[in-house]
Parts: sequence; structure tokens; C-alpha cells
Amino acid sequence: MSEPSSAATYCVHCGKPRDEGDHPRCSGARAALEPPRFCAECARRMVVQVTPAGWSAHCSRHGGTSPPPRN
Ligand SMILES: [Zn+2]
Ligand SMILES: [Zn+2]
Repeated sequence: MSEPSSAATYCVHCGKPRDEGDHPRCSGARAALEPPRFCAECARRMVVQVTPAGWSAHCSRHGGTSPPPRN
């Protein structure tokens, strides 16, 4: 059962609900370059691996994610 990825509830950088307050350090150009640390759907801490191509992050419950292709 895969859910639409638009169901992002939590901030991937700090793990708090996205609706809660604002996230000045979690948005912007710099944060966009950093790998997510928390799953957007369950706020679990993800296993992050930095690879030569960028990074990959893995939630033990929701699986992996990878950066959007940049062209
Ligand atoms: Zn945040
Ligand atoms: Zn998850």
C-alpha cells in the first residue's frame, strides 16, 4: 500500500509538524542541499547515507527516498 508522497506531515529537517510554527532553518537554499533527517510521514529518524551522487535516506517504515534530480 503506497500512499501519495504529498502526505508530508512532518518537517524532514527538524521532525516537527510542518504546520507548527515556522521553520526558518529548514527552508531555503542551504537546507535544500542537506539530506532529510526525519521521515516526512512519521517523523522517525531516518538512516542517511551520503553518496558521491548526493545522499539517500531510509525510513525503517516508509522506505527510502532520494534527492530530486537536478538538471
Ligand atoms: Zn523544520
Ligand atoms: Zn516513515
